Amino acid sequence: MEILQKPNTMKSSPYVSRRASLTLGLLLSATIAAAQTRITPPPNKYTPEQDVELGLKAAAEARQQLPVMRDDEVTSYVEDIGRRLVAGIPAELRRPEFRYSFEVVNVREINAFALPGGPMFVNRGMVEAARNEGEVAGVMAHELSHVILRHGTAQASKATKYEIGQVAGAILGSIIGGGWGQVVSQGTQFGLGTAFMRFGREFEKQADLEGAQIMARAGYDPRDMANMFRTIERQSGSGGPQWMSDHPNPGNRVDYITKEAQTLRIDNPIRDTRAFERVRGHLSQLSPAPTTEQAVRNARNRSGGGGRTTGTTTTGRAPSGRVQPPSNSYRQFNLGNSIRISVPSNWRQLQDNDSVTFAPDGAYGDYNGQSVFTHGVELGVARNEAHDLQEATDELLDSLSRANPRMSRPGGYDRVNVGNRTGLRAVLSNTSEATGQRENVEVVTTQMRDGSLLYTIAVAPSNEYSSYRGVFNRIVNSIELR
Ligand SMILES: [Zn+2]
Repeated sequence: MEILQKPNTMKSSPYVSRRASLTLGLLLSATIAAAQTRITPPPNKYTPEQDVELGLKAAAEARQQLPVMRDDEVTSYVEDIGRRLVAGIPAELRRPEFRYSFEVVNVREINAFALPGGPMFVNRGMVEAARNEGEVAGVMAHELSHVILRHGTAQASKATKYEIGQVAGAILGSIIGGGWGQVVSQGTQFGLGTAFMRFGREFEKQADLEGAQIMARAGYDPRDMANMFRTIERQSGSGGPQWMSDHPNPGNRVDYITKEAQTLRIDNPIRDTRAFERVRGHLSQLSPAPTTEQAVRNARNRSGGGGRTTGTTTTGRAPSGRVQPPSNSYRQFNLGNSIRISVPSNWRQLQDNDSVTFAPDGAYGDYNGQSVFTHGVELGVARNEAHDLQEATDELLDSLSRANPRMSRPGGYDRVNVGNRTGLRAVLSNTSEATGQRENVEVVTTQMRDGSLLYTIAVAPSNEYSSYRGVFNRIVNSIELR
């Protein structure tokens, strides 16, 4: 469908003849680009083919970890919406090599994510929370825009300078990739943590505006996208925050989407369709969707546990708890070209996809398919866009506490020095899922030169914290950044 600017100027000149208005219409269509916001995809070091390759890998991982619905009625409905939206992609952003797919995940949180090159996953909870088809299409158009603007690999293009050791090539944008209690593990090169889909406000705004334009072309009203965002914010008590933290509100979201909608022509937009009602009726007949956490646990139990397939931390055993005290001598590690850190010489270096953990024997292992450690320090770099240190640290802690619901919230931050940069520190208390014991969690952060967030997460049982405190300080003080 062709998009024409809503002929505002013609309203003020109702007396033009039909012929004159036809000419006027042609002229207006030439100025349309100025009226719509023109979106330029951000710089990207990857090729579109690499987007496809990475996306397919991550999608295969997603299908192993998440309960994808094999239900024709639901799936073909979402596929139909997806196809309609793909047809609305503007010519200059079409990528013939991309391979779009649309699947529904049987979980209750209001969420959706799309991977580079095209695979999209929409949670059942999203379809259930929407009030009409336009709202479902709104979220999907937003996700589709992240794909065609290639935000995933654009994000990955930014911080290759700070790859960590063998972790090089892994996506650093993944927050808390080290598996310290994360529900969905990071099994692929890109990882499947919600973090991979965490974009900054700039990318979010692009996805909103591009999504609005695609919706209009596909016959939907972009204001339904804004309505869905309102619904998500309203329901933030029951699953909304997940979506909100993956897609932070750039501010004035509803306002600028509404404004963009005014520049687009929308005739008889698709809202309530029989198909929507039918699918909703069908879903209400099924047993309620589990939470993502339950679903992932179930999938792991079915496959015999050990969901994490990479890294050396997978032992299949819970930490034994027999832990030697930290040695007084320290050993230095170089992580990539940019980070140096020293840790007690009797601690091992455990690699994961996107972080490194140093821990003594007996202090690390598996719990419910997740790598855990009871004593030690995890170090990683989380990508984020131009946030200040405090905001980036807030986000890190949000993500940490989502995965660790029994963790306390920080009362505030102490200022510390990390590799001659300003850093923040928070000490939290948690009850370990693996051991059931109280533990102290010390999080220290600083910003790297490119704006990404370097973090350490130090853990010790609460009753041993007094003897680990000095160790953690010494480790943080040893950090050198280049
Ligand atoms: Zn987004």
